[in-house]
Amino acid sequence: MSAHERVYRPWPGVLAGHRAYLLPEISGVGLTLHEGGTPLVAAPRLGSRLGIDLHLKVEGQNPTGSFKDRGMVAAVAGAMAGGARTVVCASTGNTAASAAAYSARAGLKCLVILPAGAVSAGKVAQALVYGARLVPVRCGFDRALELARELAARTPAVLVNSLNPLRLEGQKTAAFEVASALGGAPDFLVLPVGNGGNIRAYWLGFQQYRRAGLIDRCPRIIGVQALGADPLVRGEPIAEPRTRATAICIGRPAGWNGAMDAIRESGGTVLAVDDSQIFAARDLLAADEGVFAEPASAAAAAGLACLAERGAVPCGSTVVLVLTGHGLKDPDAVLERACLPPVVEPEFPAILAAAGDGGAVDDPGI
Ligand SMILES: *Cc1c(COP(=O)(O)O)cnc(C)c1O
Repeated sequence: MSAHERVYRPWPGVLAGHRAYLLPEISGVGLTLHEGGTPLVAAPRLGSRLGIDLHLKVEGQNPTGSFKDRGMVAAVAGAMAGGARTVVCASTGNTAASAAAYSARAGLKCLVILPAGAVSAGKVAQALVYGARLVPVRCGFDRALELARELAARTPAVLVNSLNPLRLEGQKTAAFEVASALGGAPDFLVLPVGNGGNIRAYWLGFQQYRRAGLIDRCPRIIGVQALGADPLVRGEPIAEPRTRATAICIGRPAGWNGAMDAIRESGGTVLAVDDSQIFAARDLLAADEGVFAEPASAAAAAGLACLAERGAVPCGSTVVLVLTGHGLKDPDAVLERACLPPVVEPEFPAILAAAGDGGAVDDPGI
């Protein structure tokens, strides 16, 4: 091994990095943007507020900024192996960005059915720049998914929504990484739930590692939804779901049963938090730990805070909070609530006065 290799040996991506635990039909496909291998970041300040040993699985560090890349590399590899030329998805945004990137990489065409007006600007920009064909439709995510399924049924295009089992195959690798980083399973794993694919994927991953003898128990899995888009909590579909956390604004999760099985079998629970709790949790996470997550991810942080306050997550527990997407995906979710200070003249006294105003500079004693 040369000195250079020792300094720079990149994580090989989900398919090669987790080859031994993936289906052979995809594990040998040479497709990667070096997704996965994301850091598990200790969160001591937020953890001590909540009285727990907290770790953040920062999935925003994936190539397109969300965990969707883990599943998408697998689904697009499957489409390549099957000789497909086009993939199709419905998306609240991150699936679109990821499908567009991996199909560009694979040389496939990508068609995205977008619920009009319900997708953040950053995600639309990604899908556009990667060259996907976008079809904005006047409907919400649930109807968009029906249309994508119909398109896949009537044309040779391959559906790459999480109904495609290869998506979960790729996404389960995050559980492997959590277990490896901690040297075992955490007591609790907390994540946001929209369509219900990712929560099932984590459960599959932990179970597979336990069967392989790599861990001796699985975590309790806690799903968090946004109030107004919380069908699993209410126990019935919601016709017109509403939340500012657009990535989980889903009223009829396609993965309903799989999500509820993961929660029940792991001894976990599902709860809902409102948008103001979500924004408060996002700001706290950023200020305490220097990690900026998009609103859907912050929902999980807000849910964890509720459970810790109620004592449902006991003091001293080891907890992994899955931060599913990067905050820069949706900067409007910050800017529409924040108020930028007024512009001042480029003179020192003006700068000092303005800086002192917010207490940003200690009293200089002049
Ligand atoms: C897709 C997504 C979710 C929800 O995942 P599901 O598998 O649909 O439950 C949560 N957060 C972010 C950022 C997402 O992109």
